[in-house]
Amino acid sequence: MEKPFERIYQFDLADKLESEKNLTDEEFAAVLLCDAPGFDEYLAEKARAVREKYYGKAVYMRGLIEFTNICKNNCYYCGIRRDNANTERYRLSEEQILSCCDIGYELGFRTFVLQGGEDPYYTDELIVSIVSAIKGRYPDCAVTLSIGEREKESYQKFFDAGADRYLLRHETADKSHYEMLHPAELSFDHRMQCLKDLKDIGYQVGCGMMVGSPYQTTEHLVKDLRFLQEFKPEMVGIGPFIPHHDTQYADYAAGTVEMTVRLLSIIRLLLPDVLLPATTALGTIDPRGREKGILAGANVVMPNLSPSDVRGKYLLYDNKICTGDEAAECIRCMAMRISSVGYETVVDRGDHVSFSME
Ligand code: SAH
Repeated sequence: MEKPFERIYQFDLADKLESEKNLTDEEFAAVLLCDAPGFDEYLAEKARAVREKYYGKAVYMRGLIEFTNICKNNCYYCGIRRDNANTERYRLSEEQILSCCDIGYELGFRTFVLQGGEDPYYTDELIVSIVSAIKGRYPDCAVTLSIGEREKESYQKFFDAGADRYLLRHETADKSHYEMLHPAELSFDHRMQCLKDLKDIGYQVGCGMMVGSPYQTTEHLVKDLRFLQEFKPEMVGIGPFIPHHDTQYADYAAGTVEMTVRLLSIIRLLLPDVLLPATTALGTIDPRGREKGILAGANVVMPNLSPSDVRGKYLLYDNKICTGDEAAECIRCMAMRISSVGYETVVDRGDHVSFSME
């Protein structure tokens, strides 16, 4: 049964979000909970228009190198957490990482994202050496690090070595929710401090959260949106939570494609020029998840450049896609998917630019 009055109210909120780039907490909650027919398409249409105004039809490709699955942390949701004895561990040497970049560069990539567990083998000096080597060989490329929490001095050293960007999801903006997802030795305040330090140093910073993580409520998501609005990251990485069979959250429900896509649209309207990836996790819960993400306002994808023999070992969650493909195959498939929905893949650095059109 249609509820015409509710319908009108929530569609109005979408209009208000578009024009004012802001809503009250109650209004955000109403948008997140709306079940009116046609509402997601209405939001997505607005998000697409905004994204096209700033970025046209371009979808930026970043080459992802998952260089270690060894981690000293024990995040309750993550498949490569320290206490998972069933994961076959690996780490890539500096030469192996560089050869991933060589392959990526040949394929046209101009951004490399180095992601891994928090692996103490990669000391500050080793990360500096890896970053300098990549920047020395490919000065026209951007290097993004996603290696978790370190101290400000370390972040500064990586930045001085040439790292341009840093991805560190805040995971949830609610401290007590954070504590449900992480063991006591990990602190919400420290993670937030890291984000602040990264920004102060001058990195282009990405934060973000899982959608539908265990115990997440609508209020938590509203807090996440408020945090994004205040922090003003250059990038926001969101993807559905997907259970991993060797974690304590193995039997919890995964986040949904609908809520993830709705949040992508909301974030696009809230932060019009933000870089917004359609993530691998989104492609994992729905075979056309990334395409749906692009159509809801996302404008970045991160094909995998990790060597094929380690792909199947960087498993943060179950059923991860693209674990068997060669890099060249991955990029071809990605380009096809993007063009199938009317957008075009771009491999240049795609720096975040602050637009001042309004
Ligand atoms: N160690 C780095 C990189 C973490 S992996 C760091 O701490 O930043 C990158 C992201 O994967 C995490 O930030 C988390 O949001 C996401 N992730 C981990 N486990 C997941 C799961 N089970 N389902 C979906 N996303 C997950």
